[in-house]
Amino acid sequence: MKVCKFGGSSLADAFQIKKVCDIVFADEDRKVVVVSAPGKRNREDIKVTDLLIAVAKARIAGESFEKEIMAVIERFKDIAESLNVNSILPEIENTLRTVAGADYTDSVKYLDSVKAMGEDCCARLVACYLNSIGHKAKYCNPKECGLYLKHNELGKAVILGESYDNLNNLGKGDELCIFPGFYGYSKEGEIITFSRGGSDITGSILAAAVGASVYENWTDVDNVYAVNPEIIKNPFPITEITYDEMRELAYAGFSVLHEEALYPVFVRGIPVHIKNTNNPSSKGTKIVSKRTHYDSLVTGVAGEKGFATITINKYLMNKEVGFLMNLIRILAEEGISVEHMPSGIDSVTIIVRKKNFPVEKEEVVVNRIKNELNVQNITIARDLAIVMIVGQAMANSVGIMARAASALGNAGINLRIVNQGASEISMMFGVDEAYVSYAVRVLYKELFKI
Ligand code: ASP
Repeated sequence: MKVCKFGGSSLADAFQIKKVCDIVFADEDRKVVVVSAPGKRNREDIKVTDLLIAVAKARIAGESFEKEIMAVIERFKDIAESLNVNSILPEIENTLRTVAGADYTDSVKYLDSVKAMGEDCCARLVACYLNSIGHKAKYCNPKECGLYLKHNELGKAVILGESYDNLNNLGKGDELCIFPGFYGYSKEGEIITFSRGGSDITGSILAAAVGASVYENWTDVDNVYAVNPEIIKNPFPITEITYDEMRELAYAGFSVLHEEALYPVFVRGIPVHIKNTNNPSSKGTKIVSKRTHYDSLVTGVAGEKGFATITINKYLMNKEVGFLMNLIRILAEEGISVEHMPSGIDSVTIIVRKKNFPVEKEEVVVNRIKNELNVQNITIARDLAIVMIVGQAMANSVGIMARAASALGNAGINLRIVNQGASEISMMFGVDEAYVSYAVRVLYKELFKI
């Protein structure tokens, strides 16, 4: 059985929804279909989820939300009319108005419940359309199917283990299961959404729960590419990549799947196949635990801005038992997550994401480190970008670091940090933010020899 998830651009209008249905029926193993909310029809358009957020915000602000809710209803009306399924419209309008008009005393919970309705109504509509053209399909409500979530300490929605058993039977009947992505329920029956883009996570959870042979993630690009196509035109497509490689590239800015989406399928070794709804015959990109072939030593190059460094110097640091532990403890107590920690004999640099280390925190962190750890010098820089070279085939191969470093050096790019992951499948360079795209271009050209 295959579980397939379609993203917002694949469901943006009636024409796209017809493509989705053709894809689903082209393979009888596609039994579970996860849908996002309708996305943008063109660059200027607004995603249904954003329209819903506007509804919730108006309500929370105590204003009328009629104009905002009508914008959502119009989007669904437009699709339903073109698909000849006007009969579903009262159900969609009723669902939207009931949820938007509910109690909003707890604004966070209220916002979650309204946000989820894009996916919910989309699933109802797609199921209705499929039935109207003679296929057996059923809208599957996450609560009735037992998709239970809770919030963890960081406020993130995470799945409750029992959900996997609850969802195990999905798609086993003769009806196609149309499942809304992006949300589930708490045990108390409240709607909880994942973070934005979270339908990818729903698809992965369902694929894991039913033990799918593959999790197909249908989007609007032919492939994952070896480098961001905005930096290099027509880059090499990646046809196969491991979960580990994908994770490393995502860390440095590849935004193909939601960050948390790989985990459920990774644990069960279920391959992910990224495919293009607008070009189904293209090969796509397979994310697997073990690769069958390597087209090149390096799989991809990525770069991301948004890092800061905290550099600490203390004479005889290396002799002081527990110094690093105490340093990390201070950062943990201040709620700051550490990304990397390159060190020298008497110095250490902590690399953090700027978003996790707001400027307001600087003073307290500097004072605590100075006073509690008695250090000579501490400096903060907020202008670091990270560039990564990733490739499973790099492990045990000689000379890549030399080629990369000299290409960057010849291009006049100063390397502030150099780090090779212990797994040897990635190398990381810290450069000034201003040079990140240039550095990615230089590395791609050197390593892919174009
Ligand atoms: N509709 C939600 C969003 O726009 C979730 C998703 O599409 O995956 O973020």
